[in-house]
Amino acid sequence: MISIRLEKRSISLILEARRLALEGELELGRKYIKLARAYAAKGRFRLPLPYRRMFCRRCNTPLVPGKTERVRIKSKILIRTCLICGWIRRYELREVKKSDGGKISGKNREKRNFTGDYRGNKEAIKGKKSSKNKDRK
Ligand SMILES: [Zn+2]
Repeated sequence: MISIRLEKRSISLILEARRLALEGELELGRKYIKLARAYAAKGRFRLPLPYRRMFCRRCNTPLVPGKTERVRIKSKILIRTCLICGWIRRYELREVKKSDGGKISGKNREKRNFTGDYRGNKEAIKGKKSSKNKDRK
């Protein structure tokens, strides 16, 4: 129960730190991030991924694109650079698409469309089957 409360508090701290960074209060934002990480360590929980990506892991600066962070995409790899300490992290965009459930259902729809096409060519399939039967005989 305590850890859940700490988790909520640390998340709100990260969001607050991000707002502070937008306003230019980087030093205070860093303190908020440090506090949020201390809560995570004490409560023994991992911060949810979207929030973990909101700050620099090396210098605890809240990352705001265009202000404290540079975001570039180079040959399907997302490159995030902290402008304060130069910390660089790369994300492969292909892996993100694979883990996304919505995209997989889209692939299934494509398969259904394919079967639909085969149904349209029933005569062609029948012709193939009959030729196979003839070979077996
Ligand atoms: Zn940094």
